[in-house]
Amino acid sequence: MAPLLTVSGLEKRFGGVTAGKNVTFSLDAGEMLAIIGPNGAGKSTTFNMVGGQLKPDAGSIVLAGVDITGKPPREVWRLGVGRTFQIAQTFVSMSVVENVQMALISHHHQTRAVTSAATRLHREAALAFLDRVGMADMADRPVNELAYGDVKRVELAIALASEPKLLLMDEPTAGMAPKERTALMQLTSDIARAHGIGVLFTEHDMDSVFGHADRILVLVRGEIIAAGTPDEVRSNQRVKQVYLGE
Ligand code: ADP
Ligand code: MG
Repeated sequence: MAPLLTVSGLEKRFGGVTAGKNVTFSLDAGEMLAIIGPNGAGKSTTFNMVGGQLKPDAGSIVLAGVDITGKPPREVWRLGVGRTFQIAQTFVSMSVVENVQMALISHHHQTRAVTSAATRLHREAALAFLDRVGMADMADRPVNELAYGDVKRVELAIALASEPKLLLMDEPTAGMAPKERTALMQLTSDIARAHGIGVLFTEHDMDSVFGHADRILVLVRGEIIAAGTPDEVRSNQRVKQVYLGE
């Protein structure tokens, strides 16, 4: 079967800085793929090229057989790329379930719907997405009363509501306690597997990466210097030298 995502030969320069050099990888449905590397390696640049926030100078990005290279973010999102952010993006004064309802309204192009209509529209569907992330029992609580780990789970439900084929997660566990991190990563990989969603994530926390990624890409100065399973990457000499500092 063809991979869900095929990234070939991406190049990106900012003036004299090489942020992407022949970046090539693929990602299967249901797979968790991590991108790691030192600060300034080009992780966010790669992410933003896949998400449509940045246009590559060269190369191609194909999602489920559709060329999405250089398409604007909204188009990329419509074609099946969901996204979560380093700092969770939610409507904090709205309730948990209303946040997911808003995502469903957007996904179904009912952009003229107003908040009062949203109190009914898609409520059952929204509760089903909240159930997937274990937040259905907190559906009517305002988001600003939640613990941060729970906000991150709501954000995941919001992303899932657009029924993505691929989910981009930029440092999903930033700002979380170690126990919460493990729970969020386990939840994410369970959902990815159960629904055949590919997950591409960046992460500083190495326990989240080595404990939950199926494969890892190591990026240094815009170039992939190693790729493989956690065991393969952990024992890679070049990774030890230039990245893990051993
Ligand atoms: P990472 O996410 O791995 O820390 P980035 O992708 O953010 O790295 O950055 C890669 C390199 O590209 C860095 O040297 C950074 O300064 C540079 N860079 C990133 N975005 C821009 C931009 N919009 N304009 C100029 N330089 C940028
Ligand atoms: Mg970054």
